[in-house]
Amino acid sequence: MNRKVAFYTLGCKLNYSETSGIGRMFTQAGYSTVDFTDRPDVYVINTCSVTENADKKCRKIVKEALKVSPDAYITIVGCYAQLKPKEIAEIPGVDMVLGAAEKFQLVDHITDLTKRPKAVVYNQPITEVNTFVPSYSIGDRTRTFLKVQDGCDYSCTFCTIPLARGASRSDTIANVLQQAQQIAASGVKEIVLTGVNLGDFGIRNGQREDRFFDLVKALDEVEGIERIRISSIEPNLLTDEIIQFVATSKRFVPHFHIPLQSGSDKILGLMRRRYKRALYADRVAKIKAIMPDCCIGVDVIVGFPGETREDFIDTYNFLHELDISYLHVFTYSERENTPAAEMPGAVPGSTRADRSKMLHILSDKKRRAFYQSQLGNTAEVLFEGDIKDGYMHGFTRNYVKVKAKYDPVLVNELKQVQLTNISPDGDVEVTEAEEIFVH
Ligand code: SF4
Repeated sequence: MNRKVAFYTLGCKLNYSETSGIGRMFTQAGYSTVDFTDRPDVYVINTCSVTENADKKCRKIVKEALKVSPDAYITIVGCYAQLKPKEIAEIPGVDMVLGAAEKFQLVDHITDLTKRPKAVVYNQPITEVNTFVPSYSIGDRTRTFLKVQDGCDYSCTFCTIPLARGASRSDTIANVLQQAQQIAASGVKEIVLTGVNLGDFGIRNGQREDRFFDLVKALDEVEGIERIRISSIEPNLLTDEIIQFVATSKRFVPHFHIPLQSGSDKILGLMRRRYKRALYADRVAKIKAIMPDCCIGVDVIVGFPGETREDFIDTYNFLHELDISYLHVFTYSERENTPAAEMPGAVPGSTRADRSKMLHILSDKKRRAFYQSQLGNTAEVLFEGDIKDGYMHGFTRNYVKVKAKYDPVLVNELKQVQLTNISPDGDVEVTEAEEIFVH
């Protein structure tokens, strides 16, 4: 058998790591992985429920796949496949749809590659999905997204993720360590710890067995991994002990991404978030007091139902004052079966867009100010394998994006550099003794 499979992933880091995990299962079963346009026998499309127009996007990719390889067997997995299996099964050309648990048995489900007149659906109710399947991505060998936790027990009113991914559940610490060692042995220098609600790590079969902090302490001892980054952590779960540990850690880098979602306590309440803004400000102050160079990223949603002009200004001013480094701005959009979609006070689309624009501008200013504060520092950069207009880039431990003239020798290397200035495109230029860098 020489079957070829191609993957297409929509959505978050978790989806990317799961696509990689499913990809390894195909490889073990004797498939070769090819590019989307390489006329594969099987397509795996990993969908996302958070993506705007998930349905349209899915249809478009199926169409493109069939254009490349008209007889290819088309399988759809991921959050959207769990939420709307019937709709997806109706898309012309789709052969198989698998839910949150079934996606990891995809290889076993594919036997005969004859296209089906009607798609078959394997999908159990999300309330029954309780197994944890580990996975990690291997991209350009520089950085790996390691999934250690899945699902979420919170009930933020705008979010479909608990409906698509189920209850909070985690890998065991022993298993995570084993995978981290495997990743280290493959030459990867940086692990990004990934989960739906990462800070809630430690629940297995509905029981809390340990905590995220236990995992952090254990991972810090894994030889061979140079850097560990925490992808995102809820502010109420980012404890003093985690902050203090990271400050003196050998491997955990000084970078936190902390969802805020709104700087208005009224809106935080409507979102059913588990903190008020004072707690958020306290976390940022705590981090900055012991790690002044720490990078702090913030998720924020604009245009949530009931968000008045005053509420938005409240958020804007709060963020403006906060010592943070960049924002990820999301424009609220209604999601079926969420309480927020039924709330009064919908914000007009044009207002949502205006607010998003204002926060994007604020984000650029914050990033620039953070980069500016780092100029003159000596920093360690991990260079990546991309090349654009003769330049490559990399990140410092505290997530400053650095550019340098492309040199294949530098790929996946850690280099000490001095941060000199901000280039017109916003990245930071550097010098190094051997003068192989820009300027
Ligand atoms: S914490 Fe809230 S926003 Fe995050 S996955 Fe859970 S329910 Fe969704």
